[in-house]
Amino acid sequence: MKTILCCTALVETSPQALPLGAACIASSLSASSDIKASASVKLEAFSLEDIGDSVPETAAEFIASSLQKKYKSIDFILFSVYVWNRQVLEECAALLKKSCPSAVIIAGGCEVTADPLSFKNFDFCISGEGEVSSVSLMKELLRLTSSELSEKIKAGCDFEIQGVYNLNHSYSSGTLRSVMPDVSVLPSPYLDGTINLSEYGGALWELARGCPFKCSYCYESKGEKKIQRFSRERLVKELELFSKSGISQVFVLDPTYNADKKAALDMLKEIRLKAPDIFFYFEARAEFIDRELSRAFSKVNCALQFGLQSSNPDVLKKVNRTLNKEKFTRNIGFLNQDGVVFGFDLIYGLPGDTLSGFKNSVDFALKLYPNNLEMFCLSVLPGTDLSDSAESLGLVWQKEAPYHVIKTSGFSQNDMNEAGLFSFAADLFYNKGRAVPWFMSMIQYLHMKPSVFFEEFEAFLKLQYPAAMAERNCSAYSFEDVKKIQKEFISDFFSKRNFLKAVKLAFDLIELNGAFSILTAEGKESSVSLFYHSDDLMSEAVLDWNFFIKNARPYKNITRVFKTKNGPDFKIVKK
Ligand code: SF4
Repeated sequence: MKTILCCTALVETSPQALPLGAACIASSLSASSDIKASASVKLEAFSLEDIGDSVPETAAEFIASSLQKKYKSIDFILFSVYVWNRQVLEECAALLKKSCPSAVIIAGGCEVTADPLSFKNFDFCISGEGEVSSVSLMKELLRLTSSELSEKIKAGCDFEIQGVYNLNHSYSSGTLRSVMPDVSVLPSPYLDGTINLSEYGGALWELARGCPFKCSYCYESKGEKKIQRFSRERLVKELELFSKSGISQVFVLDPTYNADKKAALDMLKEIRLKAPDIFFYFEARAEFIDRELSRAFSKVNCALQFGLQSSNPDVLKKVNRTLNKEKFTRNIGFLNQDGVVFGFDLIYGLPGDTLSGFKNSVDFALKLYPNNLEMFCLSVLPGTDLSDSAESLGLVWQKEAPYHVIKTSGFSQNDMNEAGLFSFAADLFYNKGRAVPWFMSMIQYLHMKPSVFFEEFEAFLKLQYPAAMAERNCSAYSFEDVKKIQKEFISDFFSKRNFLKAVKLAFDLIELNGAFSILTAEGKESSVSLFYHSDDLMSEAVLDWNFFIKNARPYKNITRVFKTKNGPDFKIVKK
């Protein structure tokens, strides 16, 4: 019996980091009776975050030696290669080639799909969705004896399977992707037990493949325009399994979940019935949100993320996206009215954009009260439409992962660096500092654009926390650390502008809202010392800081924030 390993390296250890791609391949291989008769298929996933600095060897050495220790003989390995693990897995393949020369090493995944011929350490590369071609390839390979196999590999044989490349072969033409699988017959890696949910605490839930949009920077720009949806029956069974397994969160993989309103409403209803205790993350399109969908989302334990990318329609046009600002604002308003949690993504370094244009996008986004605002540097991913046109658009970018833009005709190299520092400052204050409940009322009181406030915060960080600015790693800071930094900055910034009375209000809001967010996110109850009465701080009056400061009476107290069966509550425990 031969062993086939489907292996990957995950970027981090989290309920949202699962080896779904490798597991889908493992499931399809296991479902083939021909393959099952002569090989056993195993899934192996390593977390690069866990490996980190915890072992003396490199991540590649660690993965190679761990696999060799666990398996007496390695016959076939299929690696799932992504931007974050390409270098590690290429090195790992080279090490395995030396220590187990008879092992056949195959690569697939997004990075391989983009440019299969750029990989040199694998015997075969599979471009495109690999379920069909990996099964065809493994059937061919399992039929051969070891000596026949090495001859075929040396001879550059690719078995004439579409999307499969033997790197000893010389190619003159462009590459073709694998034949698309029919998703209605694909086995589920959850239902067949390939993925053990208890190991991860969360799930990536694939509802559909393909995207009707063609944003030029996305792998989907050259992917399948047609959407294939997994069957309702399969999805409902997976939902029941998620619920039974006790996982806390599910990240929904469907880039335009709400594009088909009927299907979206139907699945939201199923989620409400079958998995009411799980938190769901959706990627959605704002132009397809209406009142009915907004209400349906509000009844589910979930958060929505929208790829806004820029608030400038002319900039978006250059990357093949559109934006109707009025409609976007109106539809996001439905979510705010219904209390749905949502966030936006923005990109800096887009062709046609500038640093001040990017900051305008931040201002536009924050006025819509997102729960989080994620800001990314544009990557020119190989194999995308953007990579074909990037040079003519004036982009200069890294030629190796993560393929970040270095400069454009609108962003100098210095502007790109500045956009990164600005994004870090905004991320730390707004997202990590959980400032959403009070940020915009503070901004209105200051008569200042959000971006100007973040520029001030950025300048403060450069002066007081230069190491933090050099590292730009938000996850290195606990919420307590960020609260301390927020308070230091607010105290300094408000005092210089003679807004002394507002300092106490800001501190109270940081503490009280912080206690609520800790209770919601981590289930921890806590007590906070306040200058104002907590009833006043939780009232609508706090939306107008001028009014509040003029009218609210000081009432020093300790307020406890605690759980009840109807949700979080608070009460004064000491005056
Ligand atoms: S960015 Fe999202 S909407 Fe655009 S092509 Fe990619 S998956 Fe589709």
